[in-house]
Amino acid sequence: MAQIAIIGGGPSGAMCGEQLARAGHQVNLYDEHLAWEKPCGGGLTHKAIQCFPFLLDNSYPKKLVHSVELISSQEHRATLEMQHPIVIYSRKVLNGLLLDRAQAAGCKVQRSRVLSVDIERTKPRFSVEGEWHETDFLVLAAGARNQLVPGSRALQRDELEMTQGYFVPQNADSITIKFLPQFEGYIWSFPRSDHLSVGICGSMSSHTSAELRGHLQTFVEKQNLPTEGAKFYSHVLPSPQERTLSQRNVVGKNWALVGDAAAWVDPLTGEGLFYAIRSGELLGRSLAQGCPEKYPAWIKAAFSTELEFAARIVRRFYRGSFLGTAVTTRMVQFIRRSPVFRQLMSDLFSGTQDYSSLKRRLWGHLGVTISDFIASVLNLDRPARAHAGNTGAVGD
Ligand SMILES: Cc1cc2nc3c(=O)[nH]c(=O)nc-3n(C[C@H](O)[C@H](O)[C@H](O)COP(=O)(O)OP(=O)(O)OC[C@H]3O[C@@H](n4cnc5c(N)ncnc54)[C@H](O)[C@@H]3O)c2cc1C
Repeated sequence: MAQIAIIGGGPSGAMCGEQLARAGHQVNLYDEHLAWEKPCGGGLTHKAIQCFPFLLDNSYPKKLVHSVELISSQEHRATLEMQHPIVIYSRKVLNGLLLDRAQAAGCKVQRSRVLSVDIERTKPRFSVEGEWHETDFLVLAAGARNQLVPGSRALQRDELEMTQGYFVPQNADSITIKFLPQFEGYIWSFPRSDHLSVGICGSMSSHTSAELRGHLQTFVEKQNLPTEGAKFYSHVLPSPQERTLSQRNVVGKNWALVGDAAAWVDPLTGEGLFYAIRSGELLGRSLAQGCPEKYPAWIKAAFSTELEFAARIVRRFYRGSFLGTAVTTRMVQFIRRSPVFRQLMSDLFSGTQDYSSLKRRLWGHLGVTISDFIASVLNLDRPARAHAGNTGAVGD
């Protein structure tokens, strides 16, 4: 496989390009914008930093944030202090960093829009600037909005989230997350090195864009955020269901999908950067070995089981209630009251705790109410009460 074309130079495409160029392939990457301020929070969790230390160890501007304020739909507030920071980039900077690395490895980068692709022949083709080009393998890394997904089905409305937001010229040291009543999504404010990315995400099939805009407006007014003259953005975000994560075709004989194009996004949190970079790396490695068919199994081992878990609980998390009050409100109340639960949530938020091993963690140290709460949200069998200690107990 000598020649590989990558469509899309976001985190997934750039990482894939770097891997393949390092392995000696001839790689051509096409992006209609190159490094640009793609609508995004820009937050990288600790698992991304652990896997790719260069994301922290570099001189590109970024902000390290150690604290998160959570606000419930009823205005209860709780703060999480994280041992490992969330690293927040402007997307123009992050995309630039990853594209620079791809180019340094030998990947050829071109600013062009690819209009269509054709995977029906032995050698796939793509059309750019009015001409068709043949290649040996096509990597589709064109994000959530693109329609270039031959050999697979496009995501429907019930697997997409709408997002809206502002880049606000203000500084802050802490992340803010605000939950809303009966709303599948949340509002965020992510401080970057010289501005805030403030936005809202919500299920496209459950909420209208006017509804999102209204909630966001109320939030920025309450938080006194100056949005006059701030740049407004909107974009889509995959929110895949479990069957899509486990069954969707992401690789064929001469093509593969990575990042948002493959729907590798956590449907609970909207985190996609880590999965984009990791999927780009794993596809690059499997292609470098001449075995693209290994890619889905590698993804499953690396992270898709986690995403499937999140897909199973997302509705219960945003719509469910516990002891008569919304799950998200109970979560904020329990964070305030129980240091053990607070630590657990800090680790989940910063990305040092995954969903699937939650079951094994801390049952003996959480009070009965919080153990019941976690078991109810995660739909787990609660361990026998006899084994649950009451160190962090809050009253039943
Ligand atoms: C508002 C919002 C906030 C988010 N916040 C976070 C966050 O804080 N943390 C996090 O982890 N994730 C976040 N995400 C998710 C994250 O942005 C994505 O998961 C990530 O960008 C996916 O990377 P990608 O490379 O797959 O796609 P993208 O970053 O979308 O890159 C795709 C690239 O393809 C190019 N392209 C598209 N079509 C064509 C074409 N036809 N020809 C040529 N080029 C093309 C585009 O210009 C783009 O550069 C957020 C998403 C949104 C929408």
